[in-house]
Amino acid sequence: MPTATTTRTVPFHLPSLDEREIQAVREVLESGWITTGPRTKEFEQEFARHVGSRHALAVNSCTAALHLALEAIGLKEGDEVVVPTLTFAATAEAVLYFKAKPVLVDSEPDTFNLDPAQVERAITPRTKAIIPVHFAGQPCDMDRILEIARRYDLKVIEDAAHSFPARYKGKMIGTLGDITCFSFYATKTITTGEGGMATTENCSYAERMRIMSLHGISKDAWKRYTAEGSWRYEILAPGFKYNLTDLQAAVGLVQLSKCDSLCARRTVLAQRYTDALADFDAFETPKVRPDIRHAWHLYVILIKPGTLRVQRDELIEILKQRAIGTSVHFIPLHTHPYYRQRWGDRTGDFPVADDYFDRCLSLPLYPAMSDEDQAFVIQTLAEIAHQFRR
Ligand SMILES: *Cc1c(COP(=O)(O)O)cnc(C)c1O
Repeated sequence: MPTATTTRTVPFHLPSLDEREIQAVREVLESGWITTGPRTKEFEQEFARHVGSRHALAVNSCTAALHLALEAIGLKEGDEVVVPTLTFAATAEAVLYFKAKPVLVDSEPDTFNLDPAQVERAITPRTKAIIPVHFAGQPCDMDRILEIARRYDLKVIEDAAHSFPARYKGKMIGTLGDITCFSFYATKTITTGEGGMATTENCSYAERMRIMSLHGISKDAWKRYTAEGSWRYEILAPGFKYNLTDLQAAVGLVQLSKCDSLCARRTVLAQRYTDALADFDAFETPKVRPDIRHAWHLYVILIKPGTLRVQRDELIEILKQRAIGTSVHFIPLHTHPYYRQRWGDRTGDFPVADDYFDRCLSLPLYPAMSDEDQAFVIQTLAEIAHQFRR
């Protein structure tokens, strides 16, 4: 039954775009050069400057960045890479591109980041790398992960799809592991529609990823058509087609210039959720480590066991009926058909991720969300917590 409050609609996500992105795209469209070129170079330089990394390579997705990163460290068929089960498809899929094995591990029960103790237990003589995912925008326990990697001579490729701009003990995410991969997918903290970036301190990884990102040829194609370049190029390896366009980079540059204010707004909204939801006992709010800067890509609450007469899936439906969009991040990898068919039923092997998945709900959180929208979400959750109290 429609009431006054149901006239408000709060989508799960809206991008934060304004006239500046539109103007930047217009300039590229009118410039005569729309694919990878000067804007992409500038985006790479500005991004590297922002995180403080030596190198940054712009690509067309974080998935592509992960693929290039694993190629650069020389991942081979039969190798193993430790990844959390609680992540998006891309993290482990990139490992599978090499016919290597993603070895799934469980999460810590507080941050839901991959558990360093589980990582160590998963290591075998075939392990080549660890891919920590900075879940929801909160950096993993990188000291412990880097220490394990050193001890076992493993590479660390960070899946930072959620975590720009984020900091771990004063250091920017993007400067810690061997290679860090960011996403500029539509819903991420900054966006180019689709896009990604790989950062590294290592010159040979940077060089290899750059070559492989564009057909394995020795020069950036765009230089061939400018005064700097010539028509001659050499194919050094069978590469990929992973370059970002200047149209996207132009959007990325504007987004980058706003990233601190966008993050500040996300932080305010997240804190307000946490303060408000502490008042009713049906929900657990995110636990944040003291020594990090959270990027707040996601705000995930958990339904406290035994508090409500409805389960997570019903809660999503109820919120949907009240015009509030929510989501679930993520369905653990080990529960998906592909993983079950390939590696068997692993029910019970990942108790933290399984329990998390049963109870988790991602609330709307984006800079374009108004205070009134957020108040409506909080008020609606309060009503539901009351109405369905056990
Ligand atoms: C979004 C996401 C990716 C993939 O990013 P794309 O840019 O869409 O390829 C990878 N890992 C995680 C954890 C993500 O959430």
